[in-house]
Amino acid sequence: MHLDQQTIAVVMMVFFCSTLIIAAGLVFALRASEAGRLWAFGHVLVSAAGLALAVSAAGGAVHLGLFGAGGFVCGWLIIYRGVRLYYGVPAHPGALVGAGVIVLGLMVITGSLPDGPQLALRIVYGVLALVSLATFATLARVGRGRRSIGAPLVLVASLVQLATQLAGFSHAMGVPVAGAAPVTLFFANPAGSAWVLAPLIATLLGLFGFTVMAMEQIVAHNESGARVDALTGLLNRGALEMSALSLVARWQRDGAPLACLVIDIDHFKQVNDTFGHHAGDAVLREVALALDNSRRASDVAGRYGGEEFCILCPHTDEHQASALASRILRKVRAIELPAGQGYASVSIGVAQLRGGPGSKEGLWRALFADADRALYHAKEHGRDRYVLASSMPAPAAARAMATPLLGPAPDPAG
Ligand code: GH3
Ligand code: MG
Ligand code: MG
Repeated sequence: MHLDQQTIAVVMMVFFCSTLIIAAGLVFALRASEAGRLWAFGHVLVSAAGLALAVSAAGGAVHLGLFGAGGFVCGWLIIYRGVRLYYGVPAHPGALVGAGVIVLGLMVITGSLPDGPQLALRIVYGVLALVSLATFATLARVGRGRRSIGAPLVLVASLVQLATQLAGFSHAMGVPVAGAAPVTLFFANPAGSAWVLAPLIATLLGLFGFTVMAMEQIVAHNESGARVDALTGLLNRGALEMSALSLVARWQRDGAPLACLVIDIDHFKQVNDTFGHHAGDAVLREVALALDNSRRASDVAGRYGGEEFCILCPHTDEHQASALASRILRKVRAIELPAGQGYASVSIGVAQLRGGPGSKEGLWRALFADADRALYHAKEHGRDRYVLASSMPAPAAARAMATPLLGPAPDPAG
């Protein structure tokens, strides 16, 4: 395919005008994702650079070619920074800004030399090829194994981009130095017209892929925000109950023991009343951290409401769960209240899921009710201790209550 210069220029103008408008809109649409903002802004620069090249190729303003080439480099460096940020690998902003400034400086210097334009082109192709390679390598190495629809599109886009830049580089190396010719990337002139579609496809695929990746990140963030309690970082009640139902379903399948701890901070109202709500919030966070640090990775911890927490322990019987309860009591006793006014404490009810067939919901309600009843007894019998539900009489016989089995008595020494 050989197109004349005017046709190439028109195709590029229409294409980059469209991507410029889309990318400008995406700067706002993806503002919730920092990487998404960078990608959109990078594409604004790349599209503006493409427009400048198109105008230059049409013979309108030859000096715009230099601006366009510089715009491509800056745009792709920003896009590459977005990729590193997205995957949480060091983004080295200083190094990337430095690289951009050096390339632009070299282009300005070489642009004023007699054989400068060809040198400038080689620098631009070389840098663009390196950035495409680095983008590809980061996506392939860090992004491997993560489920994403956008990332494979971007991976293909950076490969196409790399091929285009390498073709341009070899073309620039083969072209004799021709005095002060204008800077025009090779796909924007008839010699490279067979390649003109490649950067367009790469830009479109990249723009689409990056948008999908940013949307995936925003959706994942919103989902986790809807599951996590903002104050403590533990699961909120809704998420905890969802996990509870799936753990009960697993219990129904494999029969491995499932334990539940219901934990309530002692005299927490007094903490609020004495030290204020902010101090109360700080104690809540510290207790939540103590719970989180006490549990195993497979245990599920959540804030059930107010100053009440719940931990679900799969593959754990009541006896093993009481060891966890003792650990929690010890850790919470080390949390100092404001103004040296003593230490925090919690009461804990421990239960193990028992019972025959029933709905998941019914079994979960029964398990929680058992643990809650045990917690009530722990409060009744002096707080700062745990009570096993199995040590208490069944609810129907509760009136004829025997003394339940209590956990370790408070240890004043901590
Ligand atoms: P007990 O030992 O019997 O559990 O006594 P308590 O004072 O802990 O229990 P009570 O139910 O009387 O009071 C719970 C307090 O927890 C009342 C409420 O203001 C406080 N609270 C609930 N949620 C929050 C919160 O998010 N932040 C703070 N600071 N306080 C909270
Ligand atoms: Mg309480
Ligand atoms: Mg309470």
